Amino acid sequence: MGRIQLKSVKKSFGDVTVIPPLDLDIEDGEFVVFVGPSGCGKSTLLRLIAGLEDVTGGHIQIDGQDATALPPAKRRLAMVFQSYALYPHMTVRKNIAFPMKMAGVPEDEQKRRIDAAAKALNLADYLERRPGQLSGGQRQRVAIGRAIVREPAAFLFDEPLSNLDAALRVGMRMEISELHKKLATTMIYVTHDQVEAMTMADKIVVLRAGHIEQVGSPLELYREPRNLFVAGFIGSPK
Ligand code: ADP
Ligand code: MG
Repeated sequence: MGRIQLKSVKKSFGDVTVIPPLDLDIEDGEFVVFVGPSGCGKSTLLRLIAGLEDVTGGHIQIDGQDATALPPAKRRLAMVFQSYALYPHMTVRKNIAFPMKMAGVPEDEQKRRIDAAAKALNLADYLERRPGQLSGGQRQRVAIGRAIVREPAAFLFDEPLSNLDAALRVGMRMEISELHKKLATTMIYVTHDQVEAMTMADKIVVLRAGHIEQVGSPLELYREPRNLFVAGFIGSPK
């Protein structure tokens, strides 16, 4: 299960409101992309959903339960950080095991989940290596593996590929889409890259200065952009 509903969610830092009250409904199993220019509030919105920031107003529901006051660890959401967030002194296996250790998952269950994640991500041969001995793409897969083993209701990605080179980005994009098909788990993916949004999303949320400019499938936004901002961002001919 991974339905996420935002109801009048608002965020201010001091006197500055970066997210005016906003409503959004994310269905279970959807691949949703938040797209918009730098500084429009994508990361803030994702961090509010993850519980890494407190809302200034409104409510967040996860699978029908009010999660607004829950700490991140209780939300059953897994944030995938960029690959440089791996622990360099730990093996891949230990990096992947770490969140389960913290959560008190029994050892045999840890092993089962690590093996399943390694298989899904083609990492089985690299489990005893350290991050420094891996390529950028492999490191990114380890970062995803660390999220998978928590068996979350949804995965949250914040520009996970932005520090990879262009060729690798294309490959990882396909891998993440494949993973979404395999797991059928809700994914929320933040990017400022239109191509990523158009190729990966079931549903695109176009953000501008903290508010939602338009929500729709890639085809809907391409064919019926509501305004020039959306058209310009999506690359539609309007
Ligand atoms: P994006 O991820 O789309 O680039 P952010 O969510 O990082 O945008 O930022 C949205 C706005 O909120 C920006 O103007 C940014 O400066 C501001 N902001 C983000 N985090 C903080 C913070 N902790 N304190 C003050 N302002 C912040
Ligand atoms: Mg950001």
